[in-house]
Amino acid sequence: MIKVIINGYKGRMGQALVNCVPHHRGLELSGKIDTGDSLTSVIGLGDVVIDFSTHAATVEVARQCAIHQKALVIGTTGHSDTDTFEIRKLANQIPMVWASNFSTGVNTLFWLTRKAAEILGPEFDLEVVEMHHRLKKDAPSGTAKSLAEILAEVRKLHLSDVVRHGRAGIVGERKPSEIGVHSLRGGDVVGDHTVVFANVGERVELTHRASSRETFANGALRAAQWVVAKNPGIYDMQDVLGLK
Ligand code: NAD
Repeated sequence: MIKVIINGYKGRMGQALVNCVPHHRGLELSGKIDTGDSLTSVIGLGDVVIDFSTHAATVEVARQCAIHQKALVIGTTGHSDTDTFEIRKLANQIPMVWASNFSTGVNTLFWLTRKAAEILGPEFDLEVVEMHHRLKKDAPSGTAKSLAEILAEVRKLHLSDVVRHGRAGIVGERKPSEIGVHSLRGGDVVGDHTVVFANVGERVELTHRASSRETFANGALRAAQWVVAKNPGIYDMQDVLGLK
């Protein structure tokens, strides 16, 4: 049995994970913690920690996992560049699956987005639109960032040089290299993402809509089962699903 510890278990994703663990043969819940609890007091009970808490917590969670040689699955989004650097360094010591989105459908969208960008070429304007529930704290979503990174990679551009978050006022004409990223917030939307490829005379749109958090929870649990036997390093959901 692989023993799982959930960080952030009282949250929306944490609760979905708690509910889904019993349906995964070979996994058992050995610890669950949230704000104010100590990971060090339970980490010895687990083989793998799953973090769906807040971006500010992840570096310390990764440090504890490295000290205690436990595998880590990171679902939390919104990390700063400094956090990202620290987490990547710690991945030299333990295996981690770090994914902005654990759903099989979204990972298929990642694959399709790359293919479409390669096929359609530089004539097409690229925009990413995401919508989430009114309580989401970070923007744009980690998934929207991943989609924009894929688009920039295909165009051989640095995303930070070309990303455009929303438009207001006299912004001038759209530059061909721009990659627009726009965040909508409202209601109880679990997570919608659309990648728009627009040219004169035609437009392609790739859309994924998540209607249940269980799709992310089941993906994260599958990743937990997969990662415990891996060598140190950072893996993503495409590795887990064998899409590479
Ligand atoms: P939420 O606000 O409902 O839950 C977060 C939980 O973490 C809360 O119970 C909170 O008390 C707890 N928490 C906060 N700080 C903590 C700390 N320092 N230590 C331990 N626990 C702490 O949020 P949510 O909707 O469940 O989302 C959680 C994270 O997962 C967000 O970053 C979100 O963007 C991300 N997310 C990722 C995916 C994915 O597939 N990768 C899918 C959905 C959400």
